[in-house]
Amino acid sequence: MNLFDVYSLYDVTPVEAKGCSIWDDQGIEYLDLYGGHAVISVGHRHPHYIASLKEQIDKIGFYSNSVKNPLQEELAQKLGRLSCYDDYSLFLDNSGAESNENALKLASFHTGKDRVIAFEKSFHGRTSGAVAVTANESIQSPFNKGHKVSFCPLNDISAVEKEIAKGDVAAVIIEGIQGCGGINIPQVEFMHSLETLCKQNGVVLILDEVQSGFGRTGRFFAHQWYGIRPDIITMAKGMGNGFPVGGVLISPKFKAVKGMLGTTFGGNYLAMAAAIAVVDIISEAKVMENVQQVGNYLLNNIPKTNEIKEIRGKGLMIGIEYNVPIAEKRKHLLFDKHIFTGVAGQNMIRLLPPLVLTMEHAEHFVEAMAEE
Ligand code: PLP
Repeated sequence: MNLFDVYSLYDVTPVEAKGCSIWDDQGIEYLDLYGGHAVISVGHRHPHYIASLKEQIDKIGFYSNSVKNPLQEELAQKLGRLSCYDDYSLFLDNSGAESNENALKLASFHTGKDRVIAFEKSFHGRTSGAVAVTANESIQSPFNKGHKVSFCPLNDISAVEKEIAKGDVAAVIIEGIQGCGGINIPQVEFMHSLETLCKQNGVVLILDEVQSGFGRTGRFFAHQWYGIRPDIITMAKGMGNGFPVGGVLISPKFKAVKGMLGTTFGGNYLAMAAAIAVVDIISEAKVMENVQQVGNYLLNNIPKTNEIKEIRGKGLMIGIEYNVPIAEKRKHLLFDKHIFTGVAGQNMIRLLPPLVLTMEHAEHFVEAMAEE
């Protein structure tokens, strides 16, 4: 049987990883500035993370959501404290798309309405509702296009106002910082106005923090830089440091009804062991301080050549936007400099390294870029 051939692959086979390093099957070491697409938060094979997962699998790996699981409670308590959302509740699932799907469903249940406002250049995942609110027609099948979604330009509050005035809007969904769309940071005043507009009109504000959350920008959630408090927050990626886990933080104004949301695998013991370990490490190891320090260093020191249009981002979510396509540069960084990087569109190199990236790693990248 062949694999369903939907991914463009680099000819590299990682077999081992530790901290911010990856080794391939030829024994070549790479610096990981991609984190497997913003997933590796506390570093590859962190000792506390490994010990928690090993200890858990020796006890019980899986049962179901029809019995008590104290690990879910422990995660909720710790996450509430770390994120400053103690008064919200937590629904656990398995991925970013699923978290957004659940958030949209919850908003629609709550308001009884069915239209959603999303933003140009957004990415929210590939399941039906999540891809319908993603501004990329090429990944929407005719089946997905049945949802009622309107796209507004980012930072255009009057466009959002006009849509909300029609009276049928259940939710606005927006990323803390747009990732796949090219590291676009919403304006603070826009986010404040959006929060107010949603509140005044009974529209649910959903913050997709799947990529920008879990400390990636140097605050636990990117929206905490703007000083807003959304109704629903979605998470995944960095939450499990590689173990598939997602979650939804839900404001106390939503009433839980038995059976309204559910999943077989969400909140399982191994996922909980992984997520609790990540939360413990982020809480104790000054990870967010590191993100701010190393992130600022990169933003200020990556050499800005003539080919570079702009370097922007927050913490360790950084985009280097070129005036030219970057496919060859990225290949060169990987195969000649042995540095993994990400991409957004044709012209942007995107950095999403483990949050424990050191200043030495950052200096190494700056030197490699200076030689380009
Ligand atoms: N939301 C955002 C902002 C993302 O960046 C992604 C994935 O890149 C998703 C949602 C979808 O997450 P997943 O691939 O875990 O379904």
